[in-house]
Amino acid sequence: MVRSEMSTEASLHEPTVQALPREALAALQAERLAALLHRAGSTAGSRYVGVGATLAAHAPLTGAALADEVEAHPPFGRFRLDQAALIRAGLATAAVPRPTPIAWTRADLDREASLGARALRRVGLAPRGRSSDCLDGGLVTPGTLAVSDALDALDALALPVGPVVNDAALQRAAEVWEIVRPEVLIVDAPSLAFLQRAPASPPARAFAVLLTPDDATELAAPARPDVCRIFSLPQVCTFAAGECAARDGFHLAEDAVLAEVVDGRLLLTALTRGLALLRFDTGLHAALDRSPCACGETHARLRFA
Ligand SMILES: [Zn+2]
Repeated sequence: MVRSEMSTEASLHEPTVQALPREALAALQAERLAALLHRAGSTAGSRYVGVGATLAAHAPLTGAALADEVEAHPPFGRFRLDQAALIRAGLATAAVPRPTPIAWTRADLDREASLGARALRRVGLAPRGRSSDCLDGGLVTPGTLAVSDALDALDALALPVGPVVNDAALQRAAEVWEIVRPEVLIVDAPSLAFLQRAPASPPARAFAVLLTPDDATELAAPARPDVCRIFSLPQVCTFAAGECAARDGFHLAEDAVLAEVVDGRLLLTALTRGLALLRFDTGLHAALDRSPCACGETHARLRFA
């Protein structure tokens, strides 16, 4: 444990889910997986029809296979298992050989926002707290749109300033940070690297950094007290897992994402997404720890290698 002020269940965004007893969590996950496999096997036109009734019957989905499927069946591949309208699209760029369009339904976005609020609450941001994000906008995932939704769900202040990777951007951002005084800066790996090299002291007491499978080195690095890492794979879940105050692994959102470690490789299945990716191969090496965590969350922790 790195920090002295250990959080309790009171600091969880959704304590009823995040501190659910393991057996109840396993039952919830099994129920959602069964429903997913049923929909996958019975939805006409989906790429899963006829594959099999168990998850293991499905071959892992590589990033290359995802990109090929989307190209062969535009705009989003044959992953759709319900008819809810798709209301936002973006480009997946992590763990895929080329930028690949993905999309969300209203229910997907609501869930992403609340998972994002969980992740940011773990960083220490509370309702009415102030943050600023240095993420890209537009089509980029994970980007400022997803983080703004999460801050909205948390009732915290968003202040998008765009990527801060050079002196001019830093000067512009610093002027507004001087006025607003964010408690947490939400960054990606390039902005974090630049801000930590900058001569001035960091403008906030903590960083939340969004890391994708393209940041394998940063995911596997030792934990730090001033940086809280969030693991993001937008084609499966934008806020799939995140570090808590104990800084001892990344709590996986097990009610939304099922993780398997096969031959040391991390496969993720989106349990509730409108465009359902089954057994997506992250290309990362990881281990799962289901032992209790000091923070009170019961969801398993990922450790990257
Ligand atoms: Zn924890």
